[in-house]
Amino acid sequence: MAGRLIPLIFCVAAIIVGGAGGARSADPPRVTSIRIGTQEGITRLVLNLSGPIKYRAFELGPPYRVVVDMPKVDWIIARKMSFGASSPLSSLRFGASGPKVYRLLLEARRPMRVQKSFFLSPNERTRSWRIVIDLEPVSEDAFERIMRRRRAVSAPQKPKPHKAPPDKKSSAKDSRPLVFIDPGHGGADPGAISKFGLKEKNIVLRFARRLRTEILTDGRYRVAFSRTSDVYVPLRRRYAMARKQGAKLFISIHADSNPAVKTRGLTAYTRSNVATDKGSAALARRENRSDAVAGIDLSGHPSGVTNILRDLVRRDTQRKSRIFARYVVREMKGVTRLAPRPVRSAQFAVLRAPDLPSVLLELGFLTNRRDSRRMVNDRHMRRVARAVAAAINRYFGHRPAASAGRK
Ligand SMILES: [Zn+2]
Repeated sequence: MAGRLIPLIFCVAAIIVGGAGGARSADPPRVTSIRIGTQEGITRLVLNLSGPIKYRAFELGPPYRVVVDMPKVDWIIARKMSFGASSPLSSLRFGASGPKVYRLLLEARRPMRVQKSFFLSPNERTRSWRIVIDLEPVSEDAFERIMRRRRAVSAPQKPKPHKAPPDKKSSAKDSRPLVFIDPGHGGADPGAISKFGLKEKNIVLRFARRLRTEILTDGRYRVAFSRTSDVYVPLRRRYAMARKQGAKLFISIHADSNPAVKTRGLTAYTRSNVATDKGSAALARRENRSDAVAGIDLSGHPSGVTNILRDLVRRDTQRKSRIFARYVVREMKGVTRLAPRPVRSAQFAVLRAPDLPSVLLELGFLTNRRDSRRMVNDRHMRRVARAVAAAINRYFGHRPAASAGRK
């Protein structure tokens, strides 16, 4: 599909961005994350970047698409994503569309227009530059008028200057809580592997994307990821990223393994220096080996400095983590199989953030035939993701009805 679309629209892009190729010879800016959410009919796309770029956003179609053209950037996140049926966008792709033109292509399920787009500079809350694009559904007739007008104007508009007046009201002060999703393992570290070659790192990433879709449907939260592709991120960096971005909840996604192949079910783990049981302690050791498996140097870790104030904060964080873990388990009843004693704790390295409530979900056991089958069943995993989203609603004090009512 990509191969067919790109050549068709290539010439348009080449003209538009011809004037925007003034990239400096330094390293191109990195695109570090992308966020898409719909609220009150407006779908907002936010691209986080390490530096300013010139870009241009416009519509194409039918088939209905929204395009963001930009100069060379270092796109370190997934180049392809698809979104659930509840999103007005069906998929996203990123790739080169010419020697100096890079294109983000969003496929829409219905006609949409770029209602507004602007660039935000770093502020006291975030160090990244952001492109914000708001999309609004329009009728087919309105869309056709937009396209006719575009065709009439032979010379494309100049790309917006990157110091466009920031719309502080709506974006810089996005106070919606940030839910940070951490798909475990990745890259050189596959995590657990099933008898049929299913890898934990892939299963958890797929589930993380599904979970994001479910979380974003309410428009109440923002979502960020520790990784969106098959790369390894050191454990310490995972929660450091979450804290830096001001996350309010950290959810690490994993899938377990056990030599006893009958062992199955979902477990929600929180961090504690004293493990609930031997099995949990052993699991934490296995999960904590990730850095070593991926070849990360573990030297230079800060030694634990005791501090009464920090202990208080940590205790409060652990309490909140356990509350969330219990909500997850409660929402899972009737949705998926739970492990016997589904809320446990152990010394997981990735749950170490002292001030960020953190839970590690083991979705099930890859070593169990029924669990591993369910983990690749889209419908089943969507229901599990919905249950997690409902637990998030509960945790933040919202009535879970919004998610429970959906089919
Ligand atoms: Zn794992």
